[in-house]
Amino acid sequence: MLQTNQDRGFDCPGCAWPDRNPNSTFEFCENGVKAVAAEATAKRLTRDFFAAHSVASMAAQDDFWLEAQGRLTEPMRYDSASDHYIPINWDDAFALIAQQLRALDSPDRAVFYTSGRTSNEAAFLYQLFIREFGTNNLPDCSNLCHEASGVALIEQIGNGKGSVTLEDFEQAEAIFVFGQNPGTNHPRMLGELRAAAKRGCRIVVFNPLRERGLERFVHPQSPADMLLGTHTKIATHYFQPRIGGDLAVLIGIAKIVIERAALDDAFIAQYCDGFDAVCATVHSADWREIQCDSGLTQAEIADAAQIYIDSKATIFCWGMGITQHRRSVATIQMLMNLLLLRGNIGKPGAGPCPVRGHSNVQGDRTMGICEKPTPTFLDRLGTEFGFDPPRQPGFDVVAAIEAMESGAAGVFFAMGGNFAAATPDTSRTAAALRRCDLTVQVSTKLNRSHLVHGREALIMPCLGRSEFDEQAEGRQAVTVEDSMSMVHLSAGIRAPASGQLLSEPMIVARLALATLPTSTTPWRDLVANYDRIRERIARVIPGFIDFNARVRHPGGFHLPHPGRERQFPSVSGRALLIAHPLRDAVTDSAAPFRLMTVRSHDQYNTTVYGLDDRYRGVRGLRRVVFIHRDDLALLGFAAGECVDLHSCWHDGERSVSGFTLVEYDIPRGNLASYFPETNALVPLDSVAERAGTPTSKSIAVRLTRSAAGTRPS
Ligand code: SF4
Repeated sequence: MLQTNQDRGFDCPGCAWPDRNPNSTFEFCENGVKAVAAEATAKRLTRDFFAAHSVASMAAQDDFWLEAQGRLTEPMRYDSASDHYIPINWDDAFALIAQQLRALDSPDRAVFYTSGRTSNEAAFLYQLFIREFGTNNLPDCSNLCHEASGVALIEQIGNGKGSVTLEDFEQAEAIFVFGQNPGTNHPRMLGELRAAAKRGCRIVVFNPLRERGLERFVHPQSPADMLLGTHTKIATHYFQPRIGGDLAVLIGIAKIVIERAALDDAFIAQYCDGFDAVCATVHSADWREIQCDSGLTQAEIADAAQIYIDSKATIFCWGMGITQHRRSVATIQMLMNLLLLRGNIGKPGAGPCPVRGHSNVQGDRTMGICEKPTPTFLDRLGTEFGFDPPRQPGFDVVAAIEAMESGAAGVFFAMGGNFAAATPDTSRTAAALRRCDLTVQVSTKLNRSHLVHGREALIMPCLGRSEFDEQAEGRQAVTVEDSMSMVHLSAGIRAPASGQLLSEPMIVARLALATLPTSTTPWRDLVANYDRIRERIARVIPGFIDFNARVRHPGGFHLPHPGRERQFPSVSGRALLIAHPLRDAVTDSAAPFRLMTVRSHDQYNTTVYGLDDRYRGVRGLRRVVFIHRDDLALLGFAAGECVDLHSCWHDGERSVSGFTLVEYDIPRGNLASYFPETNALVPLDSVAERAGTPTSKSIAVRLTRSAAGTRPS
């Protein structure tokens, strides 16, 4: 742990929160400990384990059990005759994949998924191989999380990333946190919020759920807090809008900002287009509708607006609570509109801050992991490697599932992740994967996606982030990019869990050599020394000049964000204020409840480390649903009773059963429950407009009493 997030150490395989530079001694959080401990477990999944456990028997286990079985140690192939995984050597594994890929009548019948844990070097080689193979079918976990942030910001300011740095957190006068639970999902962010709160920065939270970390925080690295039990109050204002109510809140705040003429007129005049349309739309919004849709009173919204107006430098942070809705692009553009109206970008202490979930999800996108690459990127890639990349946009996650379901795609390859569990509409996704001729999972540990597989299936075990990566020219380091565009090195510090593990870059290189025998790309040379990969990255991707030299500086280097210089490379070359009406033509489902899927505190994405969620008062349970006490009374239910949840959609209902009711401080008519258990309720085609992100934070549901009766609380 003392080497985690340190200059000469490895990057935490958890979230993408940046590291302080210079590093403090303890540059990790509780969930970082869980992530590293999970990777560093001494448990090993040997061929004896797979001989003793059929796929059917493992499939009957829950995700907590699967995670707890230990590290994969050698490549495994699915044997349909015995329903067991059996050992296979690497050469045969690559030959099998190559044979299947080359047998396809079109490269577009293959899908290549990327999880956000994949390093920059592996991601760059992976996209290069896939494009040399001939497709842009590169769905990635961004499609499930911050895709809407990218779509919204690229249109408005010409760059899909946040523009703030950690230093801005030290200078902000106000920090607004929308739809995010940093206490569980980005714990070290609480350290920054605590420091800001202590110096008088106003912290304003919008979240339907009361989250302990945003209320008060005991800093584990503060002797006073730990010895005296003192804590810091984080949120100065904590608002609980109803699920999906953030757009209404933002329109309300904009209405007050505009009516009080609290605008940065000079900034708007010099840098922005679209002001009049936004004014007209905001002006026409009716307060009764704003209050109804937001679930907040006009007075509450006015309080938030006044804090925003009083602040000369404000940061807006947001997470999945904003991005996983039908109108998430509109909501994020309203967030950015508000920042632009008061010139809160390109100055210290101000700007947009979409907080990424996975340690290198932003880096993967920067490296070209994207189903709709820009022509400029493809031109540079083709020039550098002497081939003509495919131009046809590929499948995102939802389109990939539909393609596998229809048979349009028959080979699925996943670089990390847990596709079968992370995706919506669980049973449809499972059927789609099972329809494939071949599914391949590159993984460190056992997960659901190994058990939901194609006719042929392979498990390919890779090195963990904390493990040595020995290549032909010595020990190698990789790089990652955090939520604030800092690129830094990560080098393993311990022996691999098994002598048969390959690094992700080596897996890609050997796959390419097996599949593309005529490729002129020097795959072996590139993976012999990753500096060579970085030299290529530097020539293809802007911002990486002198990559190898700069990344060896302590803490690495910051990728430029044009917004920090008040440059906005949008279509007009200016920042775009884009109007969105409070309501559109789509009528909401009449279902009585809106459900949002969330993580427990003992989980990271679909990885379940434990069965507790102590800050929400849950012990030893996964199948729970958080509900307001008055809704319990209205339904004639009591906390502890079990219910079934049914989501209502145009193609019928989806149900999950046996969920324990937990009374919680959440708005009436709103519910929350954990994923992946409730991903089955999210219809595949229920997605964010223009972004395709599943609407996992807003599912129309109804409850029925469960045959499971009452579970002891
Ligand atoms: S905040 Fe995120 S990256 Fe940092 S130690 Fe915790 S889990 Fe790891």
